[in-house]
Amino acid sequence: MKKSIIVLLILFNFTLNAQNNSKTDLKVSKTEEEWKKILTEQQYYVLREKGTDRPGDHGLTKHFEKGAYFCAACDAQLFKSDSKYESHCGWPSFDDAIEGTVNLTPDRSHGMIRTEVTCNSCGGHLGHIFDDGPKDTTGKRYCVNTTSIKFKKSDK
Ligand SMILES: [Zn+2]
Repeated sequence: MKKSIIVLLILFNFTLNAQNNSKTDLKVSKTEEEWKKILTEQQYYVLREKGTDRPGDHGLTKHFEKGAYFCAACDAQLFKSDSKYESHCGWPSFDDAIEGTVNLTPDRSHGMIRTEVTCNSCGGHLGHIFDDGPKDTTGKRYCVNTTSIKFKKSDK
């Protein structure tokens, strides 16, 4: 009897863990059709199909106003302007994200081993993280697509 209870508990625990890892746990969950309706073509390509903006100084790459950066798909706050720096890589770069707002997962696409950064709330693709960030802070470079984020000004 005791054994079967333990087995049941293990099974129950396993089911819970499996649910925690599933995409349905996202705070903002929409079908691809619903995303297509609210996102522009470029936003859908980058955020949902893991595309990449053209590199360059356009968009938010050289934008250094005081404020915060939000997910372009679900409006979750992701980065503070204090974390943004000029990395000269052609994309907006941050040395840190607001705790618990982004997910890091291994990405082996395009013949490279990288770590993908996604929005923790909606699963939208933001960019990748690299270890060549500023040594005096975190040493990390969150390389993020302008298309994936929105800037909101604030004096804080
Ligand atoms: Zn999001």
